[in-house]
Amino acid sequence: MHTITVIPGDGIGPSIIEAAKQVVEASGADVRWEESLAGIPAVEQFGTPLPQETIDDISRNKVALKGPITTPVGTGFRSINVALRKEFDLYINLRPARSFEGVRSLYHNLDMVIVRENTEGLYSGIEHYIDAHKSAAETIGIVTRAGSRRIIKAAFEFARSHGRKKVTLVHKANILKFTSGMFLDIGRELAPEYSDIAFDDKIIDNMAMQMVMNPRQFDVIVTTNLFGDILSDLAAGLVGGLGLAAGANIGSSVAIFEAVHGSAPDIAGCDIANPTAIILAAVMMLDHLGETTAARRIEKAVADVIREGTHVTRDLNPVNFVGTRDMAGHIVARMNRQP
Ligand code: NAD
Repeated sequence: MHTITVIPGDGIGPSIIEAAKQVVEASGADVRWEESLAGIPAVEQFGTPLPQETIDDISRNKVALKGPITTPVGTGFRSINVALRKEFDLYINLRPARSFEGVRSLYHNLDMVIVRENTEGLYSGIEHYIDAHKSAAETIGIVTRAGSRRIIKAAFEFARSHGRKKVTLVHKANILKFTSGMFLDIGRELAPEYSDIAFDDKIIDNMAMQMVMNPRQFDVIVTTNLFGDILSDLAAGLVGGLGLAAGANIGSSVAIFEAVHGSAPDIAGCDIANPTAIILAAVMMLDHLGETTAARRIEKAVADVIREGTHVTRDLNPVNFVGTRDMAGHIVARMNRQP
């Protein structure tokens, strides 16, 4: 039996987490949930967005399924997502982008995985105004040799263990000669150790254009924190939107699974959020736990429901759609009909 910390989050979080729990419970996976709070609901109950209780729960259970958490823009508390990644040193952020049959999207048959460095770069949180007049502000982006090495190695290892053919390293070494330059140098140093995997590199601006014009050339993409964050939303857009994009934050002892998207305040409370991204994050979680039969059952049921297109949320079918809970219910029904 696996005990999983579940953090509902806020905005659309509680409704999509409920949907994911329902689907996982129906899959035959041997799991039990323990609920913990973070973000606005935690401020209301504990007076802090990341209570020690939540950190202790995750440390104990080692695996968490997390709904999105709103980060106030400009002012207020710092990102809880960033804080969790730093607290547990979740240095690998895996963000697959894969096409589904039946989705109206720019491309079909895409299958790429972004491996984003998750603890360094411009997300280091070292930021200040230079004087009392706030006449300028500085942010320090830290890139370490050890941090670069372990994420690039993780990308190559992922490629090898998943039968992938190529790793593309994305950087801005022409301008950021030290931070991005070092990241690229380390990639070039490591590539010969993985002679079975092709290796190339792209400058971030060209990469953005190539992903839109010719995305099928990409397989595994490894990059620093901010570039990875932006490119993974771009990749999600290529295959049908954020409603389908799942992610995993993985460290050496703890892993937190979540959707790529945020709390979507514009649609919170409307029962129209697509639960697929968090359900696919739960599939990644089940694979991580070795519950592969349950993971494949869910994956197939999700693909079937999306292909049929009649019991999906509004982002996938603007004319004939169902709500979040109904879509999850249909995924469960499809699973129950599997042999
Ligand atoms: P967002 O990802 O919440 O929403 C972007 C757009 O995508 C919106 O139009 C939204 O309606 C749509 N969308 C997102 N998820 C959807 C779903 N499941 N189904 C259908 N449509 C969906 O991005 P944002 O509006 O820039 O951010 C809102 C808040 O979320 C911010 O406070 C941000 O900091 C936070 N955020 C949290 C996480 C996280 O918890 N991991 C990730 C990203 C953003």
